[in-house]
Amino acid sequence: MDDKTLVKTLDFQLDVQSDNEGLLYDATLEARRVYNETIRLAKEGVDWDSISRHLEDDADLVKNTVQRIVAKALGAMENYLEYDDFGRPSHTKDDPYPLRANYEEGYTLSLTDDSDVAFRISAKPYKHVRGVLKGSDAHLDLLKTALTCDEWKVTTSETLWRDGNPELHINIRNTERTVRDKQDSRTVVGMDVNEDNVALTALSKDGVEDTLVIDFPEIKFERHRYFTVRKRVQNAGKESIHDTLEGREERFVRDCLHKVSRQIVKWSQQFERPCIVFEDLKELRDSIDYGTQMNRRLHHLPFRALQFYTSYKASFEGVPTAWIDPAYTSQRCPMCGHTERANRNKKRFKCRGCEHQDHSDRGASVNIAVKGVKKHQDWNVPALNSLPVVRKVRRQASGAVDAPTVTHPTVRGSLADGRSGVSN
Ligand SMILES: [Zn+2]
Repeated sequence: MDDKTLVKTLDFQLDVQSDNEGLLYDATLEARRVYNETIRLAKEGVDWDSISRHLEDDADLVKNTVQRIVAKALGAMENYLEYDDFGRPSHTKDDPYPLRANYEEGYTLSLTDDSDVAFRISAKPYKHVRGVLKGSDAHLDLLKTALTCDEWKVTTSETLWRDGNPELHINIRNTERTVRDKQDSRTVVGMDVNEDNVALTALSKDGVEDTLVIDFPEIKFERHRYFTVRKRVQNAGKESIHDTLEGREERFVRDCLHKVSRQIVKWSQQFERPCIVFEDLKELRDSIDYGTQMNRRLHHLPFRALQFYTSYKASFEGVPTAWIDPAYTSQRCPMCGHTERANRNKKRFKCRGCEHQDHSDRGASVNIAVKGVKKHQDWNVPALNSLPVVRKVRRQASGAVDAPTVTHPTVRGSLADGRSGVSN
């Protein structure tokens, strides 16, 4: 089947001086003009091969950037002419257009002594914008790896505006590995990420193969603890201690998440041709309310980070990943399809439709796997008449994982063991 070269896009904010922001902005407007001109000339029937040469002389951008924008615009025209699936490209828009560039032609990167990543973007001929990249640890880690090892190559980038701030999106490519096509999977692993655990369910044509719940209460505990300590320090006006604490907490959480994600991928690989499926949690996260301040902290981690680390490590093993819409994944009964609202305060799901009771995060992971099969696979979701026991393991702060500690049989229509060991 169609294996894909492993490419990742990493997103960063650009920390630039304010006078340079104007230069960047002008360049993205000039990029829009080049895009518009390309489309206009192509519509007029000008020979496509001559458009780039014509605009390179005329545009106030570096040559490589003009070439990349012309190629992108002609790609849009070609798509329109061949498939007519995105509508006829417009040549009259006036918003900024991303500055596209090849690595070491339109932009360069380097590691600084403080182990930051410095950038230099050729916004215009002989006019460079310099500064340091800001972004999540996960993306910075990967970029640094790409800059220092042979296995990864930094390739193209786009400079663009998001909410009025400049960003640099950088593509990196693995030179050795490929990822299996996600539509060619025999097992779909649904992954439900929560504040203190992740639930995984492997679903194949034959039904649910297995469920694993990895608890990581230390992460929740540490984050709440550091939040409280930080708050106190902050109130005392000691900003530098505050920053140190923040770094320490984030390192701790990041290390835990690295270990958990490694385990997720390893577990998934025991099944035939796995594809790991995540839910896009934006809406879900917005519905959690711990108060504004706490929300801001919790929203950062660990959801996205765990998904990102897992997706990265999975691709590294050639395992594809996919995304699904999170609507109702935690309220829907995986057995009968009944939707149970506001019944998920505890770790127990009880269906008023069919009496099915289960670990609620397992239920969510089953639903995610089901959605993953429907969206990406050409085989049918099997009837789910029974679910295997939930195995629970606990991620220790030291990094070791206990042997399964609690098993939890699920019997439809009745609860085999009233305790079941899964209550909080
Ligand atoms: Zn039900």
